[in-house]
Amino acid sequence: MNVLVVGGAGYIGSHMVKMLGKLGCRMTTLDNLSSGHRDAVLCGGFVQGDFGNQTLLDQVLARGFDAVMHFASFIQVGESLQHPDKYYQNNVVNTLNLLNAMRAHRVMRFIFSSTAAIFGEPQYTPIDERHPQQPINPYGRTKLMVEQALADYDKAYGLKSVCLRYFNAAGADPEGLLGERHDPETHLIPLVLQTASGHRPHISVFGRDYDTPDGTCIRDYIHINDLCSAHWQALQSLMRGADSQAYNLGNGNGFSVQEVINTVERVTGRKISLEYGPRRAGDPARLVADSRLAREKLGWTPQYPDLQTIVEHAWNWEQKVA
Ligand code: UDP
Repeated sequence: MNVLVVGGAGYIGSHMVKMLGKLGCRMTTLDNLSSGHRDAVLCGGFVQGDFGNQTLLDQVLARGFDAVMHFASFIQVGESLQHPDKYYQNNVVNTLNLLNAMRAHRVMRFIFSSTAAIFGEPQYTPIDERHPQQPINPYGRTKLMVEQALADYDKAYGLKSVCLRYFNAAGADPEGLLGERHDPETHLIPLVLQTASGHRPHISVFGRDYDTPDGTCIRDYIHINDLCSAHWQALQSLMRGADSQAYNLGNGNGFSVQEVINTVERVTGRKISLEYGPRRAGDPARLVADSRLAREKLGWTPQYPDLQTIVEHAWNWEQKVA
């Protein structure tokens, strides 16, 4: 099998490339390194360039692939509110161009990184695939638009896809070779770990007046390798001729910001200095996935479901890069 991994130098993409390599796949990463790292691409071919560059896309796709996995998108909710142009251009326009280039080269399988943000404010939890889709920010809307386009592309052109809606991707390569390296970092677990390692003076907790047991937001943290194994199983399902499908990916267990901080204190043996700040705009109180469909249809089972292990792997990585 030969896979084009768009955005293979980023956090999730690089773990995916490593897993594909271990599974004996051939792959090529296409990444402009705007936020990814060349040294995170541990195997396969590498092309540095923007997937919005049509000429380059044509050249790369002409090499022949069985499928494309697409990780190259902008992911910050706040930024998407300030700069929606950037989000609609990259996450929607460039992705549609990618799909059209795939069609031209008869690459008809696509694994898409979607997000829990397509659901907007939860009407119930855990969130299953039937939950209403009402994104409340441009980021979520861009992802939903691509999901909708994919359904139309399947009907009209037979392009088969799996949309994987990530809840909170977290953790790091269990072997310690890869981890999260965003700049700027905005995600909770790496920020708390950077506080533990002394690179930040404190962690700001965004709101403690939510309707949750300890007043802080609850999220469903899913280990990066478990996310990647879902991609692998999704790819295999398409190779077997399965229909297009969308899956919610999480552990089904929610942990509050406070519980994450407590877990980091336990894992690192260090006291974390906290500062309670206002709520962050657009943060729902509770986001937890119902991933039964992925378990049933893909045979997917998270290998690292407990928060302690997720934090241990992330801490192992943080100590390497600190
Ligand atoms: N959070 C926080 N302080 C931070 C960063 C995040 O309290 O410095 C909270 C945030 O409000 C949310 C949770 O941690 O409830 C996870 O946020 P993150 O940005 O990691 O992921 P998101 O849920 O936005 O995808």
